[in-house]
Amino acid sequence: MSLLAVEGLDVRHGLLQAVRGVSLAMDQGEILALIGANGAGKTTLLRAIAGAHRPAGGRILLDGTDVTALRAYRRVAMGIALVPEGRWLFPGMTVEENLLVARASRRTGPWTLDRVLDVFPNLRPRLKAKAGSLSGGEQQATAIGRALMTNPRILLLDEVSLGLAPIAVERVYQSLAALIAEGTTILLVEQDLGRALRVATRVACMLEGRVVLEGAASSVTREQVTEAYFGLGREEKAGA
Ligand code: ATP
Repeated sequence: MSLLAVEGLDVRHGLLQAVRGVSLAMDQGEILALIGANGAGKTTLLRAIAGAHRPAGGRILLDGTDVTALRAYRRVAMGIALVPEGRWLFPGMTVEENLLVARASRRTGPWTLDRVLDVFPNLRPRLKAKAGSLSGGEQQATAIGRALMTNPRILLLDEVSLGLAPIAVERVYQSLAALIAEGTTILLVEQDLGRALRVATRVACMLEGRVVLEGAASSVTREQVTEAYFGLGREEKAGA
């Protein structure tokens, strides 16, 4: 059985349908990169899986249990953790407080404060610093660390590289490599196509709310992804 299954999901923002009949399945230990142009519906899909946005139709299953109607905090307690675009830390609280707040999920598992700091060693000297005073890379590390502290079964990462200096992006991805090596299941939105194809086991490309290409990262070509990204094949067919 898939760890995560999304079946025929429709999500609306008022009259705008941002996600259209999306179906996806992920097994334990998979890294699925979700790619697509701005406005393709990636963030909306991630937020719907996390319970931050109620779908208009379809189902979301975690390990076979239908979680579609559950509130976000109940999904966190079941093991779905979202690292949102923009990080959403508590800026007036320290790094340590931001990390420890995640214990409210009451999920037990391998992730402790010490273990998070092993993965993100740059946070150790910053533990007592206010989150609002951190660099972008440190904030991103804190946001991912906070999600890990809930001991997730699946980690949803929305554009972790956004707004970071290249060196900070490198550092975050090095830390993700450690998580991946341990078999963490990750669904990530990544704008950098090359990076997405390198890090992921599978890739899904969204265009105007639909998944238009999906396959093993080793089997899809850059050309296929670029075509799907811009909807080029579709236009060619329409023009033929
Ligand atoms: P980006 O890379 O820009 O974040 P995305 O693929 O994540 O893009 P979404 O942010 O999910 O796409 O947006 C999908 C569509 O829904 C877009 O047309 C966007 O304008 C619209 N949208 C997103 N959030 C809202 C909102 N809160 N209210 C109204 N429309 C929204």
